[in-house]
Amino acid sequence: MAKKSAIRIALDLETTGLHTEQDAILEVAAIKFQGSDILDTFESFVSPGRSIPYRVQRLTGIKPELLVGAPPFDAISKKLQHFIGDYPIVGHSIPFDVGFLRRWGVARANPLVDTFELATVLLPSLSSYNLGQVAHALGIQVPVDRHRAMVDTVLAMKVFLALYERLQAVDLALLQDLAHLDAPRSWSLLHFFRQEVRLRQESEGIAGGLMRGSLGDRFASQLGMDPRILSFAIARRQEHEPSPSELLPVETTSLTELQKDIEVIPEESQAEGPMDHEALYAAMRTSFEQKTPFLLEVTVGNNDYAPALLSALEWLSETDDAAPRRLVVACANQQSARRLIETTLPGIQAALKSKLSVAYWAEKGGYLCTHRWFGAALRRTSGELTAEQARGLAKLGLWAQQTLTGERSELTLLPQEVTAWERISSGIEQIPSADPRAGSMYQRCMYRRKGYCFVSNAAERVRNAQIVVTTHAGLLDDLSQAHSLLAEIPTRMILDADLLDEECARWSSVELDYPRLYRLLNTIGAELADGRYQGLLALAAPALRENGPGGISRTQTIAKADLDSRLVSWFQTIKQARSSVDALFGALQQLTDEFLHQGGRDRRDGPRHSHRLHERLDQPLRLTSQVSNLPSWSNVIQLWHQTEQRLQQVIDLAQKAEKGLLGGQRQGNARDKGSGEESSLASELAGVASQLRELKHLGQQAFSLSDSENVYWLRQTQNITTASQMQHRTSPAEQMPVLYAQTIQTSQLLRRLLLTEGKATVFAGAALSVEQSFAFTRQRLGLEDGCPAYSVVSKRHKQTLLLVPSDVPEPNAPQYQRRLEEALIQIATSLEGQVVALFTSHAALRSSYAAIKPVLEARGILVLGQGIDGSPRHLWQVYKEQERVVLLGAGGFWEGTDEVPHSPACLFVARLPMPVLNDPPMAARAELISDQLHQLTVPLASLRMRRALNRLAWNDTRRNAIVIFDRRIISKEYGSMILHSLPRSSQRQVIAQELSETLLDWLTVMDAWEDEPLTAQK
Ligand code: SF4
Repeated sequence: MAKKSAIRIALDLETTGLHTEQDAILEVAAIKFQGSDILDTFESFVSPGRSIPYRVQRLTGIKPELLVGAPPFDAISKKLQHFIGDYPIVGHSIPFDVGFLRRWGVARANPLVDTFELATVLLPSLSSYNLGQVAHALGIQVPVDRHRAMVDTVLAMKVFLALYERLQAVDLALLQDLAHLDAPRSWSLLHFFRQEVRLRQESEGIAGGLMRGSLGDRFASQLGMDPRILSFAIARRQEHEPSPSELLPVETTSLTELQKDIEVIPEESQAEGPMDHEALYAAMRTSFEQKTPFLLEVTVGNNDYAPALLSALEWLSETDDAAPRRLVVACANQQSARRLIETTLPGIQAALKSKLSVAYWAEKGGYLCTHRWFGAALRRTSGELTAEQARGLAKLGLWAQQTLTGERSELTLLPQEVTAWERISSGIEQIPSADPRAGSMYQRCMYRRKGYCFVSNAAERVRNAQIVVTTHAGLLDDLSQAHSLLAEIPTRMILDADLLDEECARWSSVELDYPRLYRLLNTIGAELADGRYQGLLALAAPALRENGPGGISRTQTIAKADLDSRLVSWFQTIKQARSSVDALFGALQQLTDEFLHQGGRDRRDGPRHSHRLHERLDQPLRLTSQVSNLPSWSNVIQLWHQTEQRLQQVIDLAQKAEKGLLGGQRQGNARDKGSGEESSLASELAGVASQLRELKHLGQQAFSLSDSENVYWLRQTQNITTASQMQHRTSPAEQMPVLYAQTIQTSQLLRRLLLTEGKATVFAGAALSVEQSFAFTRQRLGLEDGCPAYSVVSKRHKQTLLLVPSDVPEPNAPQYQRRLEEALIQIATSLEGQVVALFTSHAALRSSYAAIKPVLEARGILVLGQGIDGSPRHLWQVYKEQERVVLLGAGGFWEGTDEVPHSPACLFVARLPMPVLNDPPMAARAELISDQLHQLTVPLASLRMRRALNRLAWNDTRRNAIVIFDRRIISKEYGSMILHSLPRSSQRQVIAQELSETLLDWLTVMDAWEDEPLTAQK
């Protein structure tokens, strides 16, 4: 008889806020269930004993009148405890809800099953893991009245049951791997997975241990691979080829629709008047055929590059099958590349009736390496995993079995999970081996030879594709390799080219930080407090001992008695290197402290000092010749030389160990020669040694103070933001500054990599021209003066009104902030929300948020601030779902690539986005320019404005408006440059009092307006 399912409790609370200690419960709902049978329910409002924040009332619908007569929580706590008993509690982010209950002594020891955690593992590709999105992905209908306790409890239960069903499809061997991850006991899924393994083993009558059948064992010893590769989808990929009905539905757009609504304007001949799609096609064709670069500004709204892509695909389609034309398209990031492959290209291909083959080529480290996965990925190499790393590995384990491409872009990895990815990603296979006779990992890898390597399969698809989609970093990675795949494709289109130099700077940057260096050393080897040893050397110890048995250690750690004297001395060398790293970073800490406390009297200044120190903590210390005047510099240099030497000793011993492993394997003395684990360990060692070499090189360059091509700086770790935190830092890693390096002139790098003979490159971006000239962009991208440039603009530009108040103080002048807040309140009130406001700093955002929120909320308008109420993505989600909302954004709101659901009725720009010159890379670039204002800061501000307006204002067919609340755009000479760089629009200048009235007229009275172009001081 089948065993009955366990009884569980689904639970959800509504609360006044997110802080367990300060906030109160408003509503509780719980369901007792067994399988899909509901056994009992519990539901109650709770009197919070305080007011309910407006935001909570809007999102939950729980208004004060609903709580009249509701009991306080202590009046229901016993009944609730009795209902819950000691059953496992299921819910979405359940530790949060249970945190509130535990304050009252309820649910103290119940096991928790978090559907958020479970979903991140079982549905690894979702863009968001909120309950609604997870339910939607599982095909569960999401009720419209979400965010009430019982509705969410039912939903969480259904989500759990659907996820649980998915878990049943996971094979036992993998489940055992997950249940034995070296994770902390506090990770709630560990308990859940262990429970599941026990249940599965009981029901299948298995006592435990991995099931490796005789077929698998034979396979392993014959082919040199782990038999579990057979359970991966890549081993059965023929069965998985998608049928046409499985492909995503294509949004069909007609060719005429794609071609209409645009005007094409060549830079050189403004006087000739607008041209159309045909002119664009002709210009692009010339560039492709003459193999020359070409600039194309596309400002039609919503980051839409369809006009550029349409011309390129038309050209590709005119090909004869014997010599197909090929194109590389590089996007700013993985999300944009995915959107391009899944939505934009299929739409254009449908309109053109073309069937050009498309493949994706990821950046370095962008694929799962099957060899690493079956090598040391799940073994302990540098201490216990954190809960996030464990979750990351669990997620990767399940995904690895299902993926056909192994592409990192299929996954949503939370920032803390990235280190899990680094354990299994491709990239180390091309590192030359310390033993030239052994060849690189790529050459000797059995997984590749037998067709189970995602990298080599992707390379094959790229060779056969007519369109190869990649990212900016992917293109730069590939072109900088000796064996480039993309270099042979003669035509390229770079989308979001206005972000290319920033991406290139990011791509060229390197960081030397204490935790990473420490982790690398520990990965090679470390002695534990109990006297045992761990790390790659410990795993490799049996194979490295003279006359040892070969193979790798079956245990995670190894005793000193199992090491020979050479290995003991190697562990000693690593320990010495760690001490040097400690001393070096201690000295760097002292150096940054000296810099931060320059003018040491400040130390005794009390609160005033505290404020100044807070500001200075975020100040970077640029490594120029001046830094050598700081007293502790000589100590830094001395300690660096010692560290450098010891790192080299570690690199040398890692190479010796690598050679030893490869040599042992060649001689065939491996105990487990079938699995290829020795070869895998050897390349892990080569990978770590290569990273140490790179960091050592960075240190050498930085501390020499003589490298003029790169800029180097030290910055306090970001999590230290207050003086009091600085005084109370406890963990060593928290106290350490990070050393950064970046190329100063990215144009030279871009020129070297991209602008090679015989290649056509179209640089397409939303913001490439400043005052209708592309000269600034040419110089940024390393292009010749003669490189042709065109603008593609929307014919709908007249329906966006640009408004500038003429009588407000300039930013930083007295009363500016008050006038800005008044204007925002006025506009948001008369438009009933529908406003998105952009700020140039989070501090300015927070200050306006605090001032306008109470007033607008009293008028029934929800105010949400980026970083206060959530991430940009979360805020856009609420904006999409709710009416009467005002969003305040900074940073990522300006140039993000997230999709905007619909353009706001009013985009409010608080001040012109002038770049900050104390950022070291920006400062280093500015030093090379004589007129920084006109040749750097104002052009950059112009392009940033243009890009933001293109993304946020020009994406709809209805009228809307932009308010620029910075009168410098008309009062300053440089304002003219910015004003004339913006996309075309209707324009008006008004006094601040008339802003909201003018806006209402514009949005509601659809008559034609007489245009009043803004005039700026020249
Ligand atoms: S060839 Fe390289 S990336 Fe591919 S499986 Fe082997 S080691 Fe991993």
